[in-house]
Amino acid sequence: MRTNLLGLDPGALAGFFAELGEKPFRAKQVLRWVHRCGEADFARMSDLAKGLRETLARSAEVAPPRLVRESQAADGTQKWLLDVGAGNAVETVFIPEANRGTLCVSTQAGCTMACQFCSTGRQGFNRNLTTAEIIGQLWWVSRALRAREAPAQSAAQAPGVTRSEDRVISNVVLMGMGEPLLNFDNVVPALRLMLDDHAYNLSRRRVTLSTVGIVPMIDRLRDECPVALAVSLHAPNDELRSRLVPVNQKYPLAELLAACRRYLERSPRDFITFEYVMLDGVNDSAAHARELVGIAAEVPSKFNLIPFNPFPNSGFRRSPPEVIRRFAERLLAAGIICTTRKTRGEDIDAACGQLAGQVQDRTRRAGRAARAACC
Ligand code: SAH
Repeated sequence: MRTNLLGLDPGALAGFFAELGEKPFRAKQVLRWVHRCGEADFARMSDLAKGLRETLARSAEVAPPRLVRESQAADGTQKWLLDVGAGNAVETVFIPEANRGTLCVSTQAGCTMACQFCSTGRQGFNRNLTTAEIIGQLWWVSRALRAREAPAQSAAQAPGVTRSEDRVISNVVLMGMGEPLLNFDNVVPALRLMLDDHAYNLSRRRVTLSTVGIVPMIDRLRDECPVALAVSLHAPNDELRSRLVPVNQKYPLAELLAACRRYLERSPRDFITFEYVMLDGVNDSAAHARELVGIAAEVPSKFNLIPFNPFPNSGFRRSPPEVIRRFAERLLAAGIICTTRKTRGEDIDAACGQLAGQVQDRTRRAGRAARAACC
């Protein structure tokens, strides 16, 4: 069995080279080749001794998930579908903007959380992605963006011409399919690669992990690898939240908010982002906004309102634009920083909560839901 180097974080890669009897700087060289240059062929790693290249070819590989399909939306959003074996595929989405390029990464094939308004939740769950499959999403997309950039750059060689920021991954959000904190052991090494100077070199503030609110794991993330944190709030009280986000029954709001406060002691940002999906007639009233003001008083936070993205048989509707605007105004009037997420990539089903990939459900939850819908 050859070791897949995509699955090794910087520490593990150093260990791998130590076992081969090689100096630690070899690990750094290889990190750069693999992650910065997107190189998978050891023979082309020209600053490694020939003997080492041969050893690596025998004992290691750079094996990303197989690329199935790439699609592009009218607004420039791009989506890649990656085959992770046994009938499962996951999606990763790149969102170019004027001053940044954000990659939205998946962490599980499916999801066990069953949030009512999420299409991934409806699909059931197959398994956790490996570190190689998580970082493999950055690996593929960086490579694709670089390849596209290269001809443009050679055509624009005039001095002073710089490449536009929107062509590169400047931010990563773990907001694709799955609950990242329930795949902690594979997610943290992937985060370490995102942050490493020799790999993707992103600052902790530009890597955001979004969680449904797994309280003990929020504490572990704080202790082991703090990055910017987003929490899927979606409701201002336990009664409603337990209906929309069932894991709230296990970790109710008071415990979640306390974990958020603890997180801020070590967070690279001095606020938590609360995500709040706007569901028509469900969580979008003036009374809900007032309750949220109470929550914001407990945790330094910013709110990100997400207009609900519909999918077949969801049973929910998006709040009308004027309702979203008024809701945002109420929060702003109370001194809460609040933005409304622009919906991107809708025409290729790449918007929040629309990622479905392909999941061979092993929990049979999807089957139960389908039967319930029939009855
Ligand atoms: N499991 C993580 C990350 C996944 S989803 C989490 O719960 O945070 C990223 C965000 O999109 C979450 O806030 C999620 O609740 C939201 N989302 C899910 N379905 C949606 C939909 N149909 N429309 C809008 N946002 C949705």
